[in-house]
Formats: sequence, C-alpha cells, structure tokens
Amino acid sequence: IRTQAKVYYDSDDRAVRMLGTVLDITEFKRLQQQKDDFISVASHELKTPMTSLKASIQILDKLIKTNGDTGKVAQFIDKANISLNKMQHLIESLLNVSKINAGQLALNKTRFKAGEMIAEGCEHITLSGNHDLIINGDTGLEIYADRSKIEQVIINLVNNAVKYAPESHRIIIDVTCRAKTVKISVQDFGEGIAYDKIPHLFERYYRVDSTGLQYSGLGLGLYISAEIVERHGGKIGVNSQAGKGSIFWFTLPVTE
Ligand code: ADP
Repeated sequence: IRTQAKVYYDSDDRAVRMLGTVLDITEFKRLQQQKDDFISVASHELKTPMTSLKASIQILDKLIKTNGDTGKVAQFIDKANISLNKMQHLIESLLNVSKINAGQLALNKTRFKAGEMIAEGCEHITLSGNHDLIINGDTGLEIYADRSKIEQVIINLVNNAVKYAPESHRIIIDVTCRAKTVKISVQDFGEGIAYDKIPHLFERYYRVDSTGLQYSGLGLGLYISAEIVERHGGKIGVNSQAGKGSIFWFTLPVTE
C-alpha cells in the first residue's frame, strides 16, 4: 500500500483537513515482477544459442585459418545455422507478441496448397534421429490465408511435438476438410498433458510446471498460434491424455 497525503492548517496552525490517496500497489508489483521474470527468461533463452553460435564461429575461424578439414567446417556451419534459426524464432516470437499487444498483427492472405506450406514449414524443424514426420490427408487442398503465419503455427506445433514428446517415434500431420473448413492436426505419442493443465495451454507465458528447466521455451508458441488462428476466424485446441500423447489441431475457413 502506498499513501500520499496533504494536510491543511487553519490560521492558528491547527490541522483541519487532510486530503490524500491510498493506492494499492500489490497488483502493480505483481505485474512488475512478471515483467522482470520474463526479461530474465527471455535473455537466458537468447543467450544459450548465442554462446553456441559464437563458439562455432570461433572454431570455423581457426579451421579456415589453419586450412583445416572441410568436413568439420561443414559440421560447424550446420551448428551455427541451428543456433541462428533458434534465435530468429525467439526474436520473431517476441516481435509477434508486441504486434498482438498493439493490435497490429496484420494478415496478408494468399491462396496456396496446404501440403506445400506444411512441407516448407517442416524444413525449418530440426528433428532428432528418433522422429519420423508423416504428412497425411488432403494435402492438395487450397487454402486462402496468411501463408507465413499459418506456417508459423505448424512450426510451433511440430517443434513442441519434437521437444515435449522426444520418445514419440512418429509425429503425424493430418489435413482434412469438411463443410468448407480445413482441419490440420499434429499428433504425437509422447507423455501427453494432464487434464487440469489443458485449459491454460494457450495463455501467454504458460508452461506446464513439470516442464521445468529441462526444455527451453518462453511459453509463447501456443499463445501466438491461437492468436493467428483466431484472427483467421478459425479455432485451435488439443485432445490429450496423460501417458498416451497429444493431438493439437486448428481449423481455418477454406475460402473467403
Ligand atoms: P514453450 O514451448 O515455449 O514452453 P508453448 O506455448 O509452445 O511454449 O507451450 C506451452 C506448454 O505446453 C509447454 O511449456 C509444454 O509444457 C506444453 N506442451 C506444448 N506442446 C506439448 C506437447 N506436444 N506435449 C506435451 N506438452 C506440450
């Protein structure tokens, strides 16, 4: 509680009146704390790929100067690229959140084939040796939407499946169309999500507690995905069962 007051005196110097404000700053402090926590998590998330990128570039520099083995050069260029992709993805997420907050997430709609957009999105994903990515269904279907933003949704959902279901051998992307609505789903066979956590998944900054520090992330991917889908007039959701895996899905109107 913060108080501020002004006391008024009469001609005999007796206090006759006090005017003031009592401000409850608990909520203000909580929001401030949330911001500080977020900045600390975000900087940490950016620092990790940055450190790895710096190390790769230093090694590359040495290898090139000493005419080192070209196989190693290629290997470190791959590593540097993975770090750059991670940083680019994080920065794009942060920019997207500012745009959403400012009500400036503009859509640039074009017509494209679902399968082509999905395949292009999947090129940005680093799969671990464990995962097989399967694309099923009506991939030739034409959609009218903001291609790069929908691609971003696919990348977020598939990246999550890779990250949170490391033991799932298959990740299945499926495209179906019913009543002029396309439904795209991403299924994994990992640990799934507890029933009571599901209502919070699409909230800003939300991460399931048990996720802990084991996996990196800002808790923004699903929030941004939901905004993008809803701005298109679609819906997003998840069917998940603890221990059995998850199906994240979203719908879009096919035409406009
Ligand atoms: P981030 O991955 O940065 O934490 P997201 O918004 O993409 O943020 O995801 C929010 C949370 O939802 C994750 O932290 C994780 O706990 C949970 N989650 C998302 N996708 C999956 C999945 N396929 N399997 C299990 N948990 C998931």
